[in-house]
Amino acid sequence: MKAELISVGTELLLGDIVNTNAQYLSKELASLGIGVFNQSTVGDNPKRLLECFEEALKRSDLVITTGGLGPTKDDLTKEIAAEYFNQKMELHEESWEYIKERCRMFAPNKPIPENNKKQAYFPKEATVIKNNNGTAPGAIFEKDGKRIIVLPGPPREMKAMFKESIKPFLKQFTDSILVSRVLRFNGIGESSLEMEIEDILDEQTNPTVALYAKEMEVIIRITAKAKNDEEAKIMLDNKVRELRNRVGKYIYAEGGEEIVDGESVIEETVAKLLVEKNLTVATAESCTGGLVAATLINYPGISDVFLEGCVTYSNEAKVKRLGVSEETLNKYGAVSPQTAKEMAEGIRKELGANIGLSTTGIAGPGGGTEEKPVGLVYTAISINGETIVRENHFSGDRRKVRLKAVKQILIDLKNIIDEI
Ligand code: ATP
Repeated sequence: MKAELISVGTELLLGDIVNTNAQYLSKELASLGIGVFNQSTVGDNPKRLLECFEEALKRSDLVITTGGLGPTKDDLTKEIAAEYFNQKMELHEESWEYIKERCRMFAPNKPIPENNKKQAYFPKEATVIKNNNGTAPGAIFEKDGKRIIVLPGPPREMKAMFKESIKPFLKQFTDSILVSRVLRFNGIGESSLEMEIEDILDEQTNPTVALYAKEMEVIIRITAKAKNDEEAKIMLDNKVRELRNRVGKYIYAEGGEEIVDGESVIEETVAKLLVEKNLTVATAESCTGGLVAATLINYPGISDVFLEGCVTYSNEAKVKRLGVSEETLNKYGAVSPQTAKEMAEGIRKELGANIGLSTTGIAGPGGGTEEKPVGLVYTAISINGETIVRENHFSGDRRKVRLKAVKQILIDLKNIIDEI
């Protein structure tokens, strides 16, 4: 089945909002094995919307629209869909009753706006879809094997309606599903990883293996086309096993499609590990100013193991609070591997923690020298009587340098704990 998406709304054309609906629907349709052949965006303009329907349905069997189902005069998506199929609009009593009920529930003392009634008009040939999160119902229009599915614009309403009603409806048109597994790598560059698994990439058919670089990491997405979830799982497990045997030491997270963009993946993984292994932790931060602590504390169960986070920004604080020696600071400076090491060891001893973490660096924009440039950050992890210091050179502005330092120390911590 060939599908197209039409996003309706002048706001989208003006760049006032980002078209996240199209992204969501494209992903969902791909996972159902339905190819999206085209995406268009059109303003609240009836003539151009009709032209869009005509063009799209010449090429494809299914069009899904989002937006333009509201109560105002410029919301015209379903009216134009009805015009395209030459169907007459009439009041859908059940929808009107539901809209009135919702209006009474959310604004009990106000009269029900008459223009809301417009949202309850549909052709009798259409299948009306109840909106459990808003007033605008959706609908499936159908004629001679061509279909237009109209969904509301607000992403929360659209997603719920798609999941609850449209996805089950569309399943009848597909005999295969696409399921993806995502692996996130750190400590190896894109080209080195590509070389390590060149034969796997060359041989790939089903599942497919796609590799792409993100900030400080590389991602591999493995996608299986299968009859059902069970078959897909076996295919994906086999491919993941093959990849793990080859480059497993660089993998720091594995999951479904949802972990591709999940910035919290590493913090959750590390925090969970700390709690599971009952390893107490304390942090002493300079350039990250508490971000390592704050990131770990994002995880709800961390109180069992997180003891204290110190922001020891000045030399004085490093000496007083952590016991960093003045000699070290004078000889090597605050941004040095020696200071990072003493900071991590100091906070660990002070708190009696299993793990001490520290950061010290030059986040910029000023303060850099030839010897110690902006972006130089030392991160240290003190654990089991040993302290591992890493010298990092991060690019980007002050915020980016600090965020990258947090991510790096958490990835290193995860790798160290895995090996215990
Ligand atoms: P309403 O009943 O709220 O009028 P509607 O179905 O008519 O809903 P629109 O008026 O087109 O939808 O959009 C409502 C809101 O939904 C927009 O202001 C915007 O915040 C969001 N929205 C609409 N289309 C998109 C889209 N393609 N991607 C992301 N958000 C969108």
